[in-house]
Amino acid sequence: MFMRIHGVDVPSSSDKWRDVLNPATGEVIDTIPEGTADDVKAAVDSAESVFLEWSEKTMRERGLILFRAATIVREEHKRLARLLTMEQGKPLREATDEVRGFCNILEFYAGLSSQPAGDAVRLGGQGDCMVVNEPLGVCGAIIPWNMPVIIMGWKTAPALLAGNTMVMKPSSTAPLTVLSISKILGDAGIPPGVLNIVTGSGSTAGEAIVTHPSVQKVSFTGSCATGCRIRELAGSHNKDLVLELGGSDPMIVMNDADMDNAVEGAVRGRFYNAGQTCTAVKRLFVHQDIAESFIRRLTSRVEALHVKNGLDSLAEMGPLNNRQQYDTLSEIMKSVKENREGTILTGGSPMQGESYDNGYFFHPTLVKDVADDSPLVTGEIFGPVLPIIVVPDLGTAISKANQSPYGLGASVWTRDLATVKRVFREVHAGIIWVNRHVTVPPEIPFGGTKESGVGRENGYQALQGYTRSKTLFLGW
Ligand code: NAD
Repeated sequence: MFMRIHGVDVPSSSDKWRDVLNPATGEVIDTIPEGTADDVKAAVDSAESVFLEWSEKTMRERGLILFRAATIVREEHKRLARLLTMEQGKPLREATDEVRGFCNILEFYAGLSSQPAGDAVRLGGQGDCMVVNEPLGVCGAIIPWNMPVIIMGWKTAPALLAGNTMVMKPSSTAPLTVLSISKILGDAGIPPGVLNIVTGSGSTAGEAIVTHPSVQKVSFTGSCATGCRIRELAGSHNKDLVLELGGSDPMIVMNDADMDNAVEGAVRGRFYNAGQTCTAVKRLFVHQDIAESFIRRLTSRVEALHVKNGLDSLAEMGPLNNRQQYDTLSEIMKSVKENREGTILTGGSPMQGESYDNGYFFHPTLVKDVADDSPLVTGEIFGPVLPIIVVPDLGTAISKANQSPYGLGASVWTRDLATVKRVFREVHAGIIWVNRHVTVPPEIPFGGTKESGVGRENGYQALQGYTRSKTLFLGW
């Protein structure tokens, strides 16, 4: 598949290509151009050349185009979901949810297109002011492989609705559905140049976006290490930044929780997308009064999960997305075993056997009695491994939950309002769920604290984030 610059398919100026593999089978499903700094320059030039025309459309006109795009993507959701499963690995059901979720995001922002784009301020004898929220110009977006379609929606919909143009770089291990959707957006009426997609490596194409002087804002989703590098690069250019980084979300299950609901919440929260979700449950704290029964039920539920090629209709979990993820997780679990950092209740290793040998399949894993300094709890485990920590009370759960450097999401499972209030006040996170986890609909702002990043996506806040105010002061 080619890159999309100014509404047309283009190869890289270097004429280098990279394979995109199916992580369930190891087969090459397509190739993508290895974009260069020159390709990024061409994309930014294109985005700059159409900015005025796009920004001078009414918000309603832009909203209608987004709405039309959502309709066409919905019509094509089966083909797109299949492509997403083949490049990313997730079960077809999850890929379908993701493509539909993208449409929901477009429709949500299309619905905001009648919002006031400014304000009027009266200053008595001094005069009157008109405050206009203007689009920023060309925005850069860099996205990861774990939820590429949803994250594409989080960035494109508010940016484009506000009147900006964009250059986006997808991850090299899941770029195909993003490219395919970008063509649909063009068919729906987004003019050539308004949304350009450059494929390629982070160090070349990614950094060229971040450092290009015409790029006014960079919205990045990915790892903390890359986020730090982007902050460094963007800082010297004074760019506006949104950094949606890693997380190590705690799930706190109290002794009054609905046990069935909490067990299902833990399974979905951790093993959805093979555990490769920023807001996945990455540490589970369970109250000692219910720990034994909860862990028994969770273990039997996890052992029954169908791990298969995502295209198989029985698949409840697919492979990891790429070799690096697979090797990193295998190394971590090897060290957990060697250093006795916890008791493995189930799983703990890559899956073997004829249907798994060419893919990156990993056993769904539960680990109990985890040492406080184990990487399972101090870092971010991006895979299907859930550390379980038994706690005597809520205070201990909160204090351990806050020991993480991350602060993305957290959940508490209880029927008690006082418990909810305390968790909401004390746990470091951008979102606290009660009796659920992971769900992030477009209506609510989303983002983290501490090392999980800065800025917010989704909601009205994200739309505002793609504008800056400009004031006309009328001193009559
Ligand atoms: P990554 O940081 O390795 O890559 C993300 C993107 O950044 C890719 O497109 C990559 O090519 C690009 N990139 C890499 N180096 C770059 C550089 N120097 N300059 C510019 N771009 C560069 O992350 P990943 O492994 O693809 O994704 C997994 C991470 O993403 C996890 O830590 C996860 O928690 C995080 N994530 C966060 C959220 C959120 O909203 N907070 C959502 C999804 C994923």
